[in-house]
Amino acid sequence: MKKKKFKSESKRLMDLMVNSIYTHKEIFLREIISNASDALDKLYFKSLTDSSVGLKADDFKIRIVLDKENRTITVSDNGCGMTEEELDNNLGTIAKSGSFDFKAENEKTEDVDIIGQFGVGFYSAFMVSDKVTVNTRAYGSDKAFTWVSDGVEGYRIGESDKPDFGTEVIMHLREDTDDDKYSEYLDQYMIQSLVKKYSDYIRHPIVMDVESSRPVEGKEGEYEDYVEEKTLNSMIPIWKKNKSELTDDDYNSFYKEKFFDFEDPLAVIHSSVEGNATYKSLLYIPAHAPFNYYTKDYEKGLQLYSKGVLITDKCAELLPDYFSFVKGLVDSEDLSLNISREMLQHDSQLKLIAKTVEKKIKSELEKMLKNDREKYEKFFKNFGTQLKFGCYEMYGLNKDKLKDLLLFTSSDEKKLVTLDEYTAKLADDDKNIYYACGETLEKIEMLPQFDAAKSKNLEILMFTEYFDEFVVKTIGEYNGRHFVNICDEEFDLSTEDEKKEIEKLNSDYSGMFEEMAKAIGDSVNSVRFTNKLAGHPVSLATEGQISLDMEKTLNSMPGNEDNKVKAKLILEINCEHPVADKLKSLYDNDKETLAVYSKLLFSEACLIAGKSVDDPVEHSKLVCDLMTK
Ligand code: ADP
Repeated sequence: MKKKKFKSESKRLMDLMVNSIYTHKEIFLREIISNASDALDKLYFKSLTDSSVGLKADDFKIRIVLDKENRTITVSDNGCGMTEEELDNNLGTIAKSGSFDFKAENEKTEDVDIIGQFGVGFYSAFMVSDKVTVNTRAYGSDKAFTWVSDGVEGYRIGESDKPDFGTEVIMHLREDTDDDKYSEYLDQYMIQSLVKKYSDYIRHPIVMDVESSRPVEGKEGEYEDYVEEKTLNSMIPIWKKNKSELTDDDYNSFYKEKFFDFEDPLAVIHSSVEGNATYKSLLYIPAHAPFNYYTKDYEKGLQLYSKGVLITDKCAELLPDYFSFVKGLVDSEDLSLNISREMLQHDSQLKLIAKTVEKKIKSELEKMLKNDREKYEKFFKNFGTQLKFGCYEMYGLNKDKLKDLLLFTSSDEKKLVTLDEYTAKLADDDKNIYYACGETLEKIEMLPQFDAAKSKNLEILMFTEYFDEFVVKTIGEYNGRHFVNICDEEFDLSTEDEKKEIEKLNSDYSGMFEEMAKAIGDSVNSVRFTNKLAGHPVSLATEGQISLDMEKTLNSMPGNEDNKVKAKLILEINCEHPVADKLKSLYDNDKETLAVYSKLLFSEACLIAGKSVDDPVEHSKLVCDLMTK
């Protein structure tokens, strides 16, 4: 036998498992059964395409044997088995090391949680056992191997005389303590109820020899003991059961176990559809985004079953990108078992199913938005960005489906509102939906234009995600209203008289503005007075299609390095601010200082708008010169 040490992170998990105060130790059985079932599936798939396997669907079995004398539970299967190398790799390391690292951060504080969070797998056997032996022979191999460990430092691997293919896991139970009665797991009724509770839907029979007694024929009052093989699970998958038979708990534990989540889902959609497409589906909206959700590593997709048999684990064709967060499965009678991945893409039946699945998800979200706002807001915080992308992608192809699911922060009490809620409050002749952009809500509130708009009692949508503005530009119009950036030069709430007045003032001082623009240089398009700034001295406005935030976003996209877009900037100066009079007098008396002040005011306006100053060194020199004058 070769002696080996556990890899360090396996050891950490093992220590945690062994020393855990976790109260649901009983789940070890579910984990071991689920591995056996996977191994049966693997060989079953092989048998579909390889007739030499020579096994029929109902030849595949999981067997449990209880041995009270030796204190062992054995779970065996006639599945694919493992080669020596597989045995070493699979049971010597944790497959999901990445997720373990991620979750181990709160290891100390939340011992209980980490076990719940982590699909604990094979090692959970050590929660109840002080020694685990695995005998296995890979299908088609003439050698069998054994793996033995006490779950402390390491394990031993050697050859075994297991005669047939498959795997048996022999768990030697720990001694009972005051808190934990491990002997309970040697009780046949206990095992029957655990299988019913956790593994009922496993689609292979889980059999055990069960002792019963029966009246002896012809001898009244006499009973005899006998043993019979019993199948402990109903093998009906949860999605094939009636809703009325299932509790929230059933749905939630199935979700957590199948989709490796530690939190209950936000919503469950269980449907049975008949018609053009006939299928059953069980879909879940998770309560939080997986840690890699917004990265390219995340793979969307639903499990696809045909008549209860898994065809593929992640069928991407069943989910549009904007609903990629949905987990779950579809089981259809209409699909062939041997369908390949390539064929799936073109399968018209699958397309029909995908369409109905999409509708179901959408209507579930609409229902949540209407009936459980708090829940919906939680959902939106996690996945709203994805819905917004959906609106904006493909030139807005799907915007009409999605626009009513969006939420934006409103300047009124900073509450989240839908576009419908926003427009419902507007007067009939009010044709605009106002918004402002910034890195944070606080920065938006600091915008001079924001103050001014608030002082006119306008409700403003506050956009803090860099592409929010693109999203509303793609939506274009909502209930006959247009989206207006309050920092756009066209945004003007002045009366006709006020407009005329400012126009006159601007034409009177056009010479001064030219002078100022020249001093500032290419960065600015023009300079002018405004009456829109409440108490603030300066601000930046933009003209044309590109706003400041769009400039920032477009230029940060990869591939745009050599082709930077530029917003057309206007430096606006508050005509009622004392600084306006100062400029006017400098224009008459001191052009040199006018040039310096123009640069300073432009830098100030940039900073206020959240844009960096082109030449910060020059800026600080000018400020210091001013200080020391
Ligand atoms: P998981 O099942 O989540 O991958 P486990 O720790 O439970 O993680 O198991 C690790 C690996 O060991 C499995 O992925 C599988 O390859 C292998 N394995 C476990 N039990 C069996 C079994 N009964 N038959 C064949 N392979 C098995």
